[in-house]
Amino acid sequence: MTNPSPTNTLPSNFIRAVIEKNIESNRFAEKKWNGKPGDKSHHNKGSIDKAKIRTRFPPEPNGYLHIGHAKSIFLNFGLAKDYNGACHLRFDDTNPEKENEEFVKGIIDNIKWLGFDWNFNNDSNLYYASDYFELMYSAAESLIHSGQAYVDKQTAEQIKNSRGTLTTPGKDSPWRENQPAENLKLFKEMKLGKYEDGAMVLRAKINMASPNMNLRDPAIYRIKHAKHHKTENQWCIYPMYTFAHPIEDALESITHSICTLEFEDQRPFYEWLLKQLLKNDLLNEPLPKQYEFARLNLTYVVLSKRRLIELVEKNLVNGWDDPRMPTLIGAKRRGYTPEGFKLFTERIGVSKADSWIDYSTLEDCMREVLNESSNRRVAVLDPLKLVINNLPEEFEEDCLAPNHPKKPELGKRTIKLTKELWIEKADFMEEPEKKYFRLFPGNQVRLRYGYVVTCTGCEKDKDGNIIKVLCEYLPNTKSGTPGSDSVKVKGNIHWVSTKYALDAEVSLYDRLFKTEHPGKKSENYLDDINLESVKKIKIKLEENLVNIEPSDQYQFERHGYFICDQESTSENLKINRTVTLRDTWK
Ligand code: ATP
Ligand code: MG
Repeated sequence: MTNPSPTNTLPSNFIRAVIEKNIESNRFAEKKWNGKPGDKSHHNKGSIDKAKIRTRFPPEPNGYLHIGHAKSIFLNFGLAKDYNGACHLRFDDTNPEKENEEFVKGIIDNIKWLGFDWNFNNDSNLYYASDYFELMYSAAESLIHSGQAYVDKQTAEQIKNSRGTLTTPGKDSPWRENQPAENLKLFKEMKLGKYEDGAMVLRAKINMASPNMNLRDPAIYRIKHAKHHKTENQWCIYPMYTFAHPIEDALESITHSICTLEFEDQRPFYEWLLKQLLKNDLLNEPLPKQYEFARLNLTYVVLSKRRLIELVEKNLVNGWDDPRMPTLIGAKRRGYTPEGFKLFTERIGVSKADSWIDYSTLEDCMREVLNESSNRRVAVLDPLKLVINNLPEEFEEDCLAPNHPKKPELGKRTIKLTKELWIEKADFMEEPEKKYFRLFPGNQVRLRYGYVVTCTGCEKDKDGNIIKVLCEYLPNTKSGTPGSDSVKVKGNIHWVSTKYALDAEVSLYDRLFKTEHPGKKSENYLDDINLESVKKIKIKLEENLVNIEPSDQYQFERHGYFICDQESTSENLKINRTVTLRDTWK
């Protein structure tokens, strides 16, 4: 108890508890590693693994990563970092048709953006499941040899119908008792392209009466005449995910294979398969072990690649990086930050119980991080002219505004005060409601960083719309000068000079879906889409933003956090609102 280990300060969760127990009991002390993935004979030529643990993040490159993946990335890469281990990035590309290089590149960029890499001790641990096709084929052959796999010529329909139910056992396939020699021959012919898609599958021979349906002779290889993004036309048979995944883990010497709860029922097959391959001398001890955690469910969005693909393909959003999308590239464009995601994943923790996290929790984390990191600037989102009548036409005076209220070391900027200013429409009311402390005839407010002014009235156009607010300033009340607070006011409003302000377009984002759990009450989650989830407005910016560039982030005082969009140019400033200052949703 008096000897604190460095891990004592880390957030605890059940996976950390397992890892710490494993390390303490020297479970991996003899584990070998030979510089890259491989089978038993390969690793036996290596030396004791310097990585204390090995985890992996195994995305399928069939889309861009989403916020749910961020949880898994922080977990897997974070654990490796904390326990002096390695985390592999493995592209799970066993599904030839939907995968491509664009997604591979996007995933790599996203993980780097979150601050992680896959290097450990001079090895770059970036792998492709398709690199193991040969070894997977051998593994399947070894199962056939040992009588634990057979080629089934039944149709998919017949196989499905003979699986039985949760209360009744399945029926044996007529091909189940075929001899290994016959199965080997058929499997080889499958590989050589002799048969059409779906003509037969290779099945593991386990137990057709198992209470776990996944053990009722699951298919492990299928015929698919399709071009693969890496192996091209080399293969026309592909391993099933449930067969491929444990083998990938074992070849990569993974110690803790962490996945989401849906795979809990697959764990017995995972263990069955690796145990057989250990017996067949293809793998070494200690075998990888699978641990499941609850996936991230976030309200008001969908976190499923299938659905995100649909949103993109049906043009319901402007591509994968639309700032409303819960993808990591969308979030980045929206102005969400890696530090914000880190805080978020720490705050939500890791558990075994499924739950929903409110979207506002994510926004709160972004606010907290951006509050620290963002410089302040002024923007008027809904401009109305304010004229200071008792100033001369050519009046100009510098006002000093801190770049960050809590960080004086970041210094101050100057904003020019002129006779005509832009203020927010909402900061004036001709007939004030109760507790309204801003501009109305007769009232005094402070022009932030400038003077106190007294409102003297307004001008309207012929339709009665207010087009100008009028006021007079009070000398000797300038912020930061002695006696400036001699006049006490309750309102403090922001402004920019009409002469110096910059024009910009801001996109204000709202929730992408109108309901907390899209698709739960409606027939189709697409019925719940919020058609007004983006609003574009013309705004006025303080002159100091003249050199703003894509991905620059600021707090616009009284409004929230904003980021310069990737398509912004100096002639055509485009800005995205990341999040408001306070939660205005509820
Ligand atoms: P989706 O259902 O969105 O298509 P997936 O699991 O099929 O997700 P993969 O690319 O296979 O997508 O996922 C890579 C890893 O990310 C897996 O280990 C998976 O468990 C994890 N992951 C996916 N979605 C979530 C989520 N919502 N929360 C936590 N982890 C997730
Ligand atoms: Mg998947």
